[in-house]
Amino acid sequence: MERRVRVRFAPSPTGPLHIGGVRTALFNYLFAKQHDGDFLLRIEDTDSNRFVPGAEAYIIETFKWLGLPFDEGVGIGGDKGPYRQSERRDIYRVHVQRLLDEGKAYYAFDTPEELEAMRKRLEAAKAASQQYDATTRMTMKNSLSLPADEVKALLAAGTPYVVRVKVEPGQEIVVHDMIRGDVHVQSDILDDKVLYKSADDLPTYHLANIVDDYLMEISHVIRGEEWLPSAPLHVLLYRYLGWADRMPAFAHLPLLLKPDGNGKLSKRDGDRLGFPVFPLAWTDPQTGAVSSGYRESGYYPEAVVNMLAFLGWNPGTEQEIFTLEELVKAFDLEKVSKSGAKFNLDKAHWYNRHYLQRHAAADLLPALEAQLSEKTLDAAAQALARDEKACIRMIELVKDRLTFPGDLYGQLFFFFEAPAAYDEKVVKKRWQPEMPAMIQAWWQAAEATDFSVPALEALTERMIGEQGWNTGKFYNSLRVALVGTSMGPHLFDIMALLGRAESGRRLAVACEKIGQGLTA
Ligand code: GLU
Repeated sequence: MERRVRVRFAPSPTGPLHIGGVRTALFNYLFAKQHDGDFLLRIEDTDSNRFVPGAEAYIIETFKWLGLPFDEGVGIGGDKGPYRQSERRDIYRVHVQRLLDEGKAYYAFDTPEELEAMRKRLEAAKAASQQYDATTRMTMKNSLSLPADEVKALLAAGTPYVVRVKVEPGQEIVVHDMIRGDVHVQSDILDDKVLYKSADDLPTYHLANIVDDYLMEISHVIRGEEWLPSAPLHVLLYRYLGWADRMPAFAHLPLLLKPDGNGKLSKRDGDRLGFPVFPLAWTDPQTGAVSSGYRESGYYPEAVVNMLAFLGWNPGTEQEIFTLEELVKAFDLEKVSKSGAKFNLDKAHWYNRHYLQRHAAADLLPALEAQLSEKTLDAAAQALARDEKACIRMIELVKDRLTFPGDLYGQLFFFFEAPAAYDEKVVKKRWQPEMPAMIQAWWQAAEATDFSVPALEALTERMIGEQGWNTGKFYNSLRVALVGTSMGPHLFDIMALLGRAESGRRLAVACEKIGQGLTA
């Protein structure tokens, strides 16, 4: 019988989630939904030294924002819980004991100093093996090297210990990976890794991860490439625990690489090149330092999902825009690439622009209002800022130039600020001594119209024809007089929104200043 698809996202709450972790979760989600399976959230908090308060809530908030709901796990519940590893101590203890009883693991009492001395010894001897394994374990202080009664006495005295897996050399281990194919490893290269520490009565990542995947009936382990080196040990643990027939299939996703060069994408790259590496902004609880997030930078969740789906996977067609439902259908785990996926900032912007364009101008009104609230505006500008209809019209005029809602004010500032200076290049090229007289003549007629866009257009065309003005020079001069630059949407759209009083005032000021040879 086909096994039910159950996958898990298993982050450790050690700080904000890296965008690579978000991609891992997304691929798990797509795979689960494609197979009508379950998507679990398990919190791997067995490393108490690295635990960061707030990280778990951050993770949950991230997936709410992205619209990738979990079916089971922390914050949701389910019948295979608890889903926080720190609440599963009793479960792990049983399995650690079983491995000890069956001679597949052993107690080790070595102090940090003794371990350090061993490391130095091995380094000095340039030993091929630099670890605690079959070749070195008998020189150390553990239940394999010490007499049984001494071990008993140490345990009875409450001496701190760890439990290590006893890796038998000479075994072939195969990791079946859906992306990389079969990975063969000799057990000789594996370390007798620590599975449990008495000091905090907690298992390590390796043991907890395996026990939970088994008990939570996980069918596929989809995770970052950085976990591939742990996979042989995990396969071995499945064998040791007698669960080999329930072993999940593995899929190790390619690394996310920096946009330039070949290294792993880091927060430093983000800071250097100006993009977030975290989904949501994060305040470090210890230092108070704030890291930017996609959400706060004005990215749409659909854009982030669409962009991340393409980091390591593509549909093999030209299609680049996918809704989540379309991704669920098209995604193919076995077509995920083996080589690293380069983060591409232009593409991230391109996706965001696309999803922003799908929103109505009115949806962007709160963003404009927020930006306006940070400015000091004069009375006319305040009135315009309060005019919702006018603001929505302005947004419509510049929407296709926006990548982020945060770009709005930069595209609309001239509605709210009379020019403080006039673009020198435009003035030099377009302005003529007779311009003030032309503008004044035009204004007299313009002022008398209903000041609508069609009326202003018709009037101007008529006057240019009658007076024989140079069209380009006239329009450019009028624009620079009104807004100070050569940018912006259609001139009469701007003027109609500014209204008669403000437009007239600005033109008069400009004619006087530029007429006197001033550009500021
Ligand atoms: N706790 C590990 C992490 O932080 C989980 C790795 C895995 O998925 O097995 O990513």
